[in-house]
Amino acid sequence: MIDLRSDTFTKPSPGMLQAMFSAEVGDDVFGEDPSVNKLESLSAEMFDMESSLFCPTGTMTNQIAIKCHTQPGDEVICDKLSHVYIYEGGGIAFNSGAQVKAINGERGKITAEQILNSINPDDVHKPRTSLVSLENTSNRGGGSCYEFTDIQRVKEICLLNNLKLHLDGARLFNALSTTNESPKQYGEIFDSISICLSKGLGTPIGSVLLGNRELIKQARRVRKVFGGGMRQAGFMAAAGIYALEHNIQRLEVDHIHAKRVAEALLKKEFTGKMLPVETNIIIFEVLAEFYSANSFAGALKKYDIKVLPISSNQIRMVFHLDVTEEMIKQMLETITYL
Ligand SMILES: *Cc1c(COP(=O)(O)O)cnc(C)c1O
Repeated sequence: MIDLRSDTFTKPSPGMLQAMFSAEVGDDVFGEDPSVNKLESLSAEMFDMESSLFCPTGTMTNQIAIKCHTQPGDEVICDKLSHVYIYEGGGIAFNSGAQVKAINGERGKITAEQILNSINPDDVHKPRTSLVSLENTSNRGGGSCYEFTDIQRVKEICLLNNLKLHLDGARLFNALSTTNESPKQYGEIFDSISICLSKGLGTPIGSVLLGNRELIKQARRVRKVFGGGMRQAGFMAAAGIYALEHNIQRLEVDHIHAKRVAEALLKKEFTGKMLPVETNIIIFEVLAEFYSANSFAGALKKYDIKVLPISSNQIRMVFHLDVTEEMIKQMLETITYL
């Protein structure tokens, strides 16, 4: 079976499992889990940020960051396709009592100018704008990447207007892999960064929130309130350490796989508009004369290939470390039959 529905379907490799089995653990709520402590210091060092916090999910790291950066009634600026806005169960309202100013960006990316135009004046009628949240790569943008200079411009606007800047970096390492930028460049700019270990990096569980000491101290308290204070979490942190040490370099393989499959799809008459394939995600339309998104997914399922319909005519495929060269060959062959 080839599962391209998401890069969350990966299973731990033998090496990762070994690292988990042999992890040294303790009670992390007491700060005594050596593996969690190691993961947190390793990731903070990578980004050259003061501190970090291990959490069970990327939804939790994002939501904790938003909670720490806002007050009830505040407004958060983000793209209308942002995960924090459309895929976290209304968490911004639920957890923080804040609301969203959703911007119509380009493939999930928003500009400094759009942000500037969305900041509310200091007026009692208006919600206080306190936070900007970017997503890199953008999931619904088809794995699109920001230009670093565009992020720098966003930062300038945030500094001038006293706004915090958060990054949903669930797939930040995919972006870094294509743009050849470094985690430290990102650490320097953002007030908080969330990275997922359970996407392309292949762990069963886990995300990390990065920030300065003060923010992470507050975040640790909020994590407890959200029910995310874990005990012997070191078994999971060990998988995270393994992932950071072994699975970053290979992300470029996923990107090559995505491009090869995209090329094959573009040759077919059933393929409509496709978002540019920059990293490990393909999002494209199937033309109604040939397939609906559901019937296309059904056709591939007969060949034991799973893809994700994300609207009535759009399909998403995500490439990851459990997709082998052999599977790509099989995929390319199957596409010729469709
Ligand atoms: C997957 C994902 C998250 C976090 O998801 P969890 O399933 O809660 O770990 C956050 N942002 C983006 C863009 C994602 O793709």
